[in-house]
Amino acid sequence: KLLEQLHGQGYVRVDSPRLADLVLLNTCAIREKSEHKVYSLLGTLGGLKRARPGLVIGVGGCVAQQRGEEILRRVPAVDLVFGPDHLFDVPALLGEAAAGRRVARTAWRHRTQRVANFIPDFGAAVGSAGEVKAGLAIAKGCNNFCTFCVVPHTRGREVSREPDNILAEARALVARGVKELLLLGQNVNSYRAGGVSFVELLRRLNDVPGLARLRYTSPHPKDFSPELARAHAELRTLCEHVHLPVQSGSDRILKAMRRNHGIASYLEKLALLREQVPQVALSTDLIV
Ligand code: SF4
Repeated sequence: KLLEQLHGQGYVRVDSPRLADLVLLNTCAIREKSEHKVYSLLGTLGGLKRARPGLVIGVGGCVAQQRGEEILRRVPAVDLVFGPDHLFDVPALLGEAAAGRRVARTAWRHRTQRVANFIPDFGAAVGSAGEVKAGLAIAKGCNNFCTFCVVPHTRGREVSREPDNILAEARALVARGVKELLLLGQNVNSYRAGGVSFVELLRRLNDVPGLARLRYTSPHPKDFSPELARAHAELRTLCEHVHLPVQSGSDRILKAMRRNHGIASYLEKLALLREQVPQVALSTDLIV
């Protein structure tokens, strides 16, 4: 989405920061080490900027959300900082940078909305063109607050997009040659927009002509319903693969992690799924 917005502004992608007029770091805060890497890379980019003062440097993503103006204070070479809610403000922020202003944009949007089209309409028309697979964000944020996880603090509360907004993007992607959609959300299967549940959304996407495969990540075991297991058997496009993070094999640890599920209920859901789709491929995440 970032690349395509910039492409619309006349930017062309180059292979090295040494050739670039603009460098944007899209950061991840899920592990602490990635944050250290951001500051070390910014140090290197600062050297490039001393040699070429016209270079514009921006930091986006979850480290930007967490640190905000602190990044501007710590790294004088940085021109703009933008949190995940401000992805689509980047062209405007570049205008600020061109006028000589250093800006940090990290205010939350949709703080109190359960349903909001957080990808603007022009965003629905872009997407990753020319690829067989594309990611499609259907929800963002998370309300679960597992004790080990930074996501609710960097991506905010859970917000779902309206089904028609999602379907318009799906159709636009398929029209551009995409065959497989990976539905994205930090807690993807708790998607709900008005009366439309996650399974109902899958049904609607399944009817998009030309779509061959549908996947989703990451689902939460507590929201994995019998209807979802049945959908894997019934829907033509829904792949026979589920990635269902369990995180721990111990009920005591799951409780300490505040995961809201136990081992018995997790295994029951897998049994339900295997009943519907005996050859289903399963994968998981474990914190060791
Ligand atoms: Fe993080 Fe997932 Fe737990 Fe939400 S459900 S707090 S995203 S681990």
